[in-house]
Amino acid sequence: MMWNIREHKKTAVIAGCGRLGSSLACLLESEGYDVIVIDVNPNAFQRLEENFGGFQIQGDASDWTVLERSSIQECTLLLAVTNDDNINCMIALIGSVIYHIDQVYTRLQDPSRECLLDATNIKAIYPARLSLQEFEKISHIKMKGSSVV
Ligand code: AMP
Repeated sequence: MMWNIREHKKTAVIAGCGRLGSSLACLLESEGYDVIVIDVNPNAFQRLEENFGGFQIQGDASDWTVLERSSIQECTLLLAVTNDDNINCMIALIGSVIYHIDQVYTRLQDPSRECLLDATNIKAIYPARLSLQEFEKISHIKMKGSSVV
């Protein structure tokens, strides 16, 4: 059965309920979003807070039927935060290009994939880049040369 979200305004679909996805699921719910979280591993949902009231779908988020069950076609915010860059790019592109979702975010380990997101509304988070910035901050060493991240 499909999750009926038609009457709701703010709906977030999150692919990947790992450390990042589960935290964002709980935070977005506390911000008033209806949250639908997808993970291939049923144990991943244990990371959600006990009082999480969102909808959980166990399945492969790269599977079109799983995405449609999540009502991706009607959400306002999509997060592609599995631990697989290929899957994250694919889900984010489907959300942006096919379903025209207003806000699409992803997490990518490989910054060289940034070019795939050109000319889309997808915003990416690069943990390696953030770590480098944090290292500069806590070490007080200002990096001069260009960096691969
Ligand atoms: P983390 O790296 O801790 O943010 O966890 C990433 C999460 O993504 C894990 O819970 C994985 O089970 C989940 N994951 C990986 N591949 C898929 C997939 N194809 N569909 C749904 N969830 C996935």
